[in-house]
Amino acid sequence: MVLALLDAGEKVIVLDDLSTGFRWLVPEAAKFIIGDVGDAALVDAILAEHEIDAIAHFAAKIVVPESIGDPLRYYLNNTAKARNLLECAVRGKIKHFIFSSTAAVYGEPPVTPIDETFPLAPINPYGRSKLMTEWMLKDAAKAHGLKFAILRYFNVAGADPKGRLGQSSQSMPNATHLIKVAVQAALGLRPGLEVFGTDYPTRDGTCIRDYIQVSDLVAAHLMALDYLRKGGESLICNCGYGRGVSVLEVVDAVKRVSGADFKVRISGRRPGDPASLVAGTKRIKAVLGWTPEYDNLPTIVGQALEWERQLRNKSITGEPAGANSLACDAV
Ligand code: UDP
Repeated sequence: MVLALLDAGEKVIVLDDLSTGFRWLVPEAAKFIIGDVGDAALVDAILAEHEIDAIAHFAAKIVVPESIGDPLRYYLNNTAKARNLLECAVRGKIKHFIFSSTAAVYGEPPVTPIDETFPLAPINPYGRSKLMTEWMLKDAAKAHGLKFAILRYFNVAGADPKGRLGQSSQSMPNATHLIKVAVQAALGLRPGLEVFGTDYPTRDGTCIRDYIQVSDLVAAHLMALDYLRKGGESLICNCGYGRGVSVLEVVDAVKRVSGADFKVRISGRRPGDPASLVAGTKRIKAVLGWTPEYDNLPTIVGQALEWERQLRNKSITGEPAGANSLACDAV
């Protein structure tokens, strides 16, 4: 998003606590402030010092099993701190607020694709922590005239097609997302991959997800910002392709694209995983005019592989935790 905004000629300020990523990934052209989005005094000062018309809030914990093991950390990070940020946004008379929400707010939907009017019934603390922020944002917008775009991300994947950025975590075991784990296995950076559950009611028994390439997702943010600036009403929309892929299909694609075989171990279900999450995409197409450019699994896997090679060549995953970082788990 920072790269895309800069490419579009916007001025960007990044506020990040560097808890999970790398400082060097923030482009020089953006102003960088290290700090916490929940630190109201800091955010008030930033808003007072600069003319800011929009906030895009990406800073969140995003790992479902971690949210089950440490729910209060998720409610602090994803809900309580978002509340503080929102309060500052209202106080600072910010006009537009873009919020990274998630398909996890739908829980275990009875049918797919899921459209935005489906019941909201998250089945894990991660989804609940994000849904509460959606509610706060809606209430605050109604009371204070803020306009918002809530973007419900399905599974973000791939990397910048120009090779400038990709998903990065501070050390190998920290990566948990399927495509990243699979490309690490293909490059021999981990011994193999575990498939969490083969007894789901899906075509091959493994979970189905809708993997959206990161630049396509960023394009939706830019379009949402443009839409709000032109006076569009607050908006909630899904971000996905409307097409689901199973865990085994991802594994197969990674093996084919990389040309590498790696060990795959079938293990039990991971707590908190819904069987199938596929986006209904009518609204994002109709309201924002969004069309994807990279809706192709081998392309997405190829980008993820290329980025992982770059990280490996720079030995980035070997750096000590906290040395240099940006919250790129949430790219
Ligand atoms: N998954 C898996 N092995 C892994 C990582 C993930 O089988 O090493 C599965 C996981 O159980 C889920 C799907 O892949 O069904 C996508 O998981 P991921 O963590 O990438 O994203 P989530 O859907 O949880 O946001």
